[in-house]
Amino acid sequence: MKVAIIGAGFTGLSAALALQKKGHTVTLFEKDPHPGGLAVGYKVKGWDWSLEKHYHHWFTNDSFILDLAKETSYEVIRKRPKTSVYLDGKSYQLDSPYAIMTFPKLALIDKLRMSATLAFLRFNPFWKPLEKFKATSVLPKMMGQKAFSLLWEPQLRNKMGKYTDEISLVWFWTRVYKRTPSLAYPSRGFLDFAQHLTTCIKKQNGVVNFETEITEINDNGKTTISYLKNNEKYTESFDKVIVTLPSFLFLKITPQLPEDYKEKLIKLKGLGATNMVLRLSQQFLSDGTYWLSICEENSPVMVVVEHTNLMDKKNYNNEHLIYVGNYLESDSDEFAMTKEELLERYSPLLEKIHPGFKDTILGYDIFKAPFAQPIVPMNYSKMIPPLKTPLPNVLLANIEQVYPWDRGTNYAVELGHKVSQLIP
Ligand SMILES: Cc1cc2nc3c(=O)[nH]c(=O)nc-3n(C[C@H](O)[C@H](O)[C@H](O)COP(=O)(O)OP(=O)(O)OC[C@H]3O[C@@H](n4cnc5c(N)ncnc54)[C@H](O)[C@@H]3O)c2cc1C
Repeated sequence: MKVAIIGAGFTGLSAALALQKKGHTVTLFEKDPHPGGLAVGYKVKGWDWSLEKHYHHWFTNDSFILDLAKETSYEVIRKRPKTSVYLDGKSYQLDSPYAIMTFPKLALIDKLRMSATLAFLRFNPFWKPLEKFKATSVLPKMMGQKAFSLLWEPQLRNKMGKYTDEISLVWFWTRVYKRTPSLAYPSRGFLDFAQHLTTCIKKQNGVVNFETEITEINDNGKTTISYLKNNEKYTESFDKVIVTLPSFLFLKITPQLPEDYKEKLIKLKGLGATNMVLRLSQQFLSDGTYWLSICEENSPVMVVVEHTNLMDKKNYNNEHLIYVGNYLESDSDEFAMTKEELLERYSPLLEKIHPGFKDTILGYDIFKAPFAQPIVPMNYSKMIPPLKTPLPNVLLANIEQVYPWDRGTNYAVELGHKVSQLIP
């Protein structure tokens, strides 16, 4: 069959490879100049490797994407980085039972209760019953108010904003259940890996169109898609179409969908993400921490990630690279701020963490993703749209359907496999 895939993120790339194995002919359409979607990378002069616009790594149990790397002979690097929390003006390593037990800000009884809760979530594979609970209602009762208020509530509120009290316990469970202390990373970056997969697709006679934006899908007996390339409009027909865009973008290109289906998709909410990448001449988190969660209330920053405390700085012209990450509503004033305005906003906190950091800045950029984090409320399993849409030849496979897992490239690959199975 002749299959069109809209979006060359990891869902689209993995669906294309899976369909090619079954003998189908695939054509990918991507509006951006490069593959990788939310995990796309960029390079500045002097860097040998690309860097993701938004921090990315894999857990060592992300088997779908790690298998894909292995199958396509792509090198993966494994490391055990340091993870810490920042509170009351200090960083504390908090990434092992030993680190928890020596953490000075909680009494032993609170630490034991918190550890028991985390252990329960880590080893309990049954997520379905957890759907009925909200994270902010249940966690303080399970781990105790002190540990929750000190460590987890500020992180949740900084990330989820006005949605915090709607978030399901399943969302928190998946973050604990799937976490591994060691991490994996594709050698030369996610962009290089995505380009490698694109090459594999092309070698099997697949077509990959970049800078090609789908504007419309029609499914009246014959399935056609319309797209803009170099400001010219084209229309092409296919036997099947797989859409990997978030639901609100799918709605824009298929206005003919039935109203009741549209209403279901409109109910799915999401947050945007901003990441400032600071290129520094000196290490920022000088204790070697890779991931620093900010546990201060109303912090303008959710996390600081020092990429070069995970991957060697020699790949980036010996620059030290940090992300200053945040999740925001994409129509908020802050989301619209310039990089200069955001640096001013972040600077007081960054100065506290590393006094004098401003003198070490070699350059900086801000990257924004309008749809980056699906909001997962209670009983989300009942809200997820199925892969089959009301349009008989159009399938939807997107970031909002990887539940119970939180979004990630690993689940994008799994989803690509799943959707390809619906095409015989
Ligand atoms: C801040 C942040 C941190 C993250 N951290 C991690 C991490 O550490 N590890 C991890 O594995 N994952 C992480 N993720 C999640 C991961 O990036 C996503 O889950 C994954 O990339 C989703 O892949 P996808 O193919 O489903 O969607 P997308 O990547 O969104 O791909 C959709 C593609 O469709 C294209 N497109 C949109 N509209 C059109 C159109 N009209 N026509 C043609 N093309 C179009 C887009 O340009 C895009 O390339 C993170 C995401 C963010 C935002």
